[in-house]
Amino acid sequence: MKQRWTFRCYPTLGQETILAQTFGSTRFVYNRFLHERTAAFANGERMNYPQSSAALTLLKKDPEYPWLNDVSCVPLQQALRNLQTAYKNFFTKQSGYPSFKKKGGRQSAEYTRSAFKFEVGNQRLLIAKMGRLKVKWSKRVPVDPSTVTIIRKPSGRYFVSLVVDVTPAPLPETGESIGIDFGISRLATFSNGERIANPKYLNKYQRRMKRQQQSLSRKTKGSNRYKRQRQHVARIHEKITNSRQDVAKKLAWNLVTRFDTICVEDLNLRGMLKNHKLARSLGDANIGNCIRTIQAKAVMHGKTVVKINRWFPSSKMCNSCGSIQDKMPLSIRIWTCECGATHDRDENAARNILAVGHTATERGEAVRLN
Ligand SMILES: [Zn+2]
Repeated sequence: MKQRWTFRCYPTLGQETILAQTFGSTRFVYNRFLHERTAAFANGERMNYPQSSAALTLLKKDPEYPWLNDVSCVPLQQALRNLQTAYKNFFTKQSGYPSFKKKGGRQSAEYTRSAFKFEVGNQRLLIAKMGRLKVKWSKRVPVDPSTVTIIRKPSGRYFVSLVVDVTPAPLPETGESIGIDFGISRLATFSNGERIANPKYLNKYQRRMKRQQQSLSRKTKGSNRYKRQRQHVARIHEKITNSRQDVAKKLAWNLVTRFDTICVEDLNLRGMLKNHKLARSLGDANIGNCIRTIQAKAVMHGKTVVKINRWFPSSKMCNSCGSIQDKMPLSIRIWTCECGATHDRDENAARNILAVGHTATERGEAVRLN
């Protein structure tokens, strides 16, 4: 089973220079071929991966771009493969049209086995044209990775991401199932009444980010102060992402050890990303991330995730009698049904999600993810 493991890394000054060159060339290749493929597309033609790969070989011989030969050729080839994937996702409607890579954004260079060497015994990573890369290994990497990606985040920090093939490790069956309702103010409510709060520091970081973003908007674009402030904002952003990832991992581990079947609502994230309110969209991104993490852990440990159609009226339906309320505004946290049952809004929703998950599983309709 393929997994992506990411570690912080610390290139030397010399390596930083080579990486800057590699990122620049990779970005150039990606953007140039995106431009060419867009032009071809406008003429009703399609340019595929072998064609762009052949064109890259010619481009490297062009006296106008001698610097393309200064860096390892593997990340340049990989940039074309990534572009190919971006097009495939566009044609299968999984994402929008590929966009140009920006200099100030996240930079990356991907290396395949011919361009790196990993020594499992002493956990040493060697990269073509750069030599040994210093990595902070937070856990042991037991196998030779299939690809290695070096990333520079907008904060200026470097990371290395490895694709490793690991053996699944099934956990003992417990015979238990659970339904989960995800929310913005409270992260998750279980059908058994347990609650998982959003950690307080997230709010703190979000307030800090808002202040720093305001300060950024007052600075002149392109100035040194602007660049420094942008890194500042990026660092807070990274802290938020990391703490969220922590929460998601803990929740996922908690679930897969205790339950065999985990029922969740299928969030239509593509639809949600159109929502422009910051807090709300950040919350949605967090829920999507939690669900993905739970799925990955479930697959790894032999458990099942069942996704419920998101248009199912989980909040409006009484779990005791099955009647459906006309309205259920978000401000209502506790309500009483005509049948006399009093419900915590989210717990009632979680119970409905579990019930539908059970029925769907019996009928074989559910989207089972493993
Ligand atoms: Zn009722």
